[in-house]
Amino acid sequence: MSHDTNGKPSVIGAICGMKCPSCREGKMYKQNGIFPIKTMLDMPEECPVCGQKMEPQVGFYFGTGYVSYALSVALFVFNLVWYWFFFGLSVMDNSIFYYLATSIGIVLLMQPYIMRISRVLYLYMFVRYGAHKKAEPQAPLTSH
Ligand SMILES: [Zn+2]
Repeated sequence: MSHDTNGKPSVIGAICGMKCPSCREGKMYKQNGIFPIKTMLDMPEECPVCGQKMEPQVGFYFGTGYVSYALSVALFVFNLVWYWFFFGLSVMDNSIFYYLATSIGIVLLMQPYIMRISRVLYLYMFVRYGAHKKAEPQAPLTSH
């Protein structure tokens, strides 16, 4: 595993590896791949390494629809760039339709991955590194 300058596991590596945002070590999904599709979004209740809750509230992942939408749009743009580069795009022929068909196909194929990574990104937006530590005892309350 790669580590950044602070000795923490790198955030990019942890996101790509779909690791828990709090410890960047525990897996966020029960299965590594998207197959079987039916259970590809199954998460453990909490991180097996640090105990961070994988679904902090009921319906927490409702907002991931927007994340996956944004990622799908980004993928369309990415496809546009390489398609333009390799095949060229012109309004004078059907190339724009070939691009659209190719891009829609790719985005549909990638949808399971997009859904998984969307949840990962979403949890990273709310949970900071080290947010949950199982091993350390609770600090005593001193305020009252
Ligand atoms: Zn963890």
